[in-house]
This record gives sequence, C-alpha cells and structure tokens, in this order.
Amino acid sequence: MREVVKIINPYDPGLFPEDLPIKDLKVIQLGSNENPYDPSDEVKKAYLEALKDIRLYPHAGYIKLKEAISEYVGVEVKNIAVGCGASELINCVCQTLVEELDRVVIPVPSYTLYAIYAMLRNATLHFPFFENYKIKADEVVDLRPKLTFICSPNNPTGNTIDKRVVEEIAGGSDYVVVDEAYAEFSGKSCVDLVQDFDNVIVLRSFSKFFGLAGMRVGYALASKNIVEGLEKVRLPFAISYPAVRTAIAAIKSVKYYEKIRDRIVRDREDLFRKLKKFDWLEPYPSEANFILVKVHRDGIVEKLASRGIIVRNVTGLMGLEGEHVRITVGKPEENERLIEALSVNSKTSA
Ligand SMILES: *Cc1c(COP(=O)(O)O)cnc(C)c1O
Repeated sequence: MREVVKIINPYDPGLFPEDLPIKDLKVIQLGSNENPYDPSDEVKKAYLEALKDIRLYPHAGYIKLKEAISEYVGVEVKNIAVGCGASELINCVCQTLVEELDRVVIPVPSYTLYAIYAMLRNATLHFPFFENYKIKADEVVDLRPKLTFICSPNNPTGNTIDKRVVEEIAGGSDYVVVDEAYAEFSGKSCVDLVQDFDNVIVLRSFSKFFGLAGMRVGYALASKNIVEGLEKVRLPFAISYPAVRTAIAAIKSVKYYEKIRDRIVRDREDLFRKLKKFDWLEPYPSEANFILVKVHRDGIVEKLASRGIIVRNVTGLMGLEGEHVRITVGKPEENERLIEALSVNSKTSA
C-alpha cells in the first residue's frame, strides 16, 4: 500500500442516528448540516418517475442537468462540470491540477476533505491559521500556492470570505477553489469571478440548500479548460439517473427551497441568541445553516447524544483551540429540544 494511504486519517463523517444506542426516542440529527425539511412535490414526483428507467445509464454528458444549473447560476454550460457531490469534485480538482510536491494551501480551520485529497496527490501541504477564519490574502500568496482552498461560508466557522480577498489570492495563486456548498444561506457568491479569472473554481452542492444530500450531486464552475479536465477525471456515470432527475426538479422548485432557506436563516438567528445566553457557550456568528460553538465544559457531545441529539464534535480540528461543537440549524422543535437539553446540563453540572 502507498505510504500516504497508510498515514492519512479517514474522513470523519460524524455520528448517524443508527449509531446511537437509543431505541425509544426519535433521534435529532444536528451533526451533518443536512436540510431538515421535506423535498418539494416536484422532486418527489421526479424521483418516483425515474424509477421506471433505472435500468438505463444516465447520459454521460449530463447535458440537461448542466442546462438547469446554467439557468440557476447564470454561467454557460461550457463552464460547468458536475460530480457525485461537491466531494467528488474536490478530488477531481486535485487530480486535475496538483502534481507531486506542488504547494497546496488550506487556510484553517476549515473542511477536512481538502487535505485528504491533496495528500493523496503527494502534495506539499500548508495550513496557515487565521483567527476566526479571517483570511489575509497576502499571507496566503506569500506561500506561492499551486492551489488554494477557500471555503465560503466556511465549514465550521460559518463566516464568508470577501470577494476582494478571493481576487487577491487568485492573482497570486496558480489556482483557487472557492467551496460554496453553503452559498445560498449567505446570499453571497464568487460565481461571477469565473468570468474574469480563468484560475478560479467555484464548487457548489445540492446537498445543503436543496436538501439532496442522499442523492449525491455537486457541480464546479470554472474556465472551459479546467471544466474539460475535471470531466475527464470524474467517473463517467458518477451521478445516478434518479439523482439527475431530482436535481433538475429541485432547481425548478427553487422558490420552495428559498422559503425553507429564509425559515432556516431566521431560526439560526434565534438559535444563536439562545445559545449566547449560556455563560459556558460561545457561539460564532454564522452565514450558513449551522453554528460553531466554543464549549467551556467537558463531555457535551456525549451528554446530548444520551438525550438523542447528535451534534458534530469538532474539537481537535486543526485551527480550533479548545472544545468546539458544530450545530446544524434544525426545525424549530428540534432546536427547542436542543436548548432544553443544554438547560438541563447547565443545572446538573453548574
Ligand atoms: C457538505 C460539504 C460539501 C460537500 O457536499 P456534497 O454532499 O459532497 O455535495 C463540500 N464542502 C463543504 C465545506 C461541505 O460542508
């Protein structure tokens, strides 16, 4: 086996409801940044209609899906690559652009998958630390990156990165990825940079805003040249036929998802205010569908799990000092149950 595969840490997917030893309680999953609401009626219908054709391969060019995405983001089809979730595209970017020992710069704290796929290329990794992920472009550019990974809104800190900062990094990096898996929750995007910079790659996902994490659909927006490279590297039939049909239907019902988004954004602000009231919790302001919280007390993840509530333990993540959890904004009643469980914890261990 390759040495790098032996030493690499596997991606931590967090806890799933079936991992908890709880039988009588409905588990609340606030650990994976999933959308807590049902798919639109159009999406349900598209999924069922796809059933009769699942013996067929999906169209390998994914033209209809790209046309729908093109209309949604206002980028030409030739500038769109698709993949099995944004995750696959992170791998494709590394395979397309990174040679052995190339410098890959990953400001931290951020998403862990960038490092995994960059390491698998035998790249030289740099992890500049920025307090609260406030990236300083000059410090990134000083590292003379072949490829820089920026996440906006950032997982796990929740803040966005200014377009000007991305432009500056694009001016001093061979290539820049802007991972916008949560862009719709922030209302901010670097998509238009793709027109002006042929070295900027914007990654998007259907998993969060469109609530299709189980279907596995993502896309990259970039210069025609890069898109052609990414498409060569990805699996020929990476996105299943039902996934294609549901993703297209989701874009058609974007109004439905915008209403859900507005609800989640309001509930996020409400949850933030409630978390802030605990003197042992320090929530970070967020522009995504989750909140990072610094926790001045031990064992919170386990205590919540024993009450049937899953949050993501991000303690030990590179660039985070002390205990931290990342909490997905759920439905109002789920957020309420979380706050109740935290209140009980406040009383018992104060
Ligand atoms: C969830 C997430 C993704 C990937 O999602 P897919 O389900 O693979 O589309 C990518 N980047 C970040 C930062 C994420 O949080």
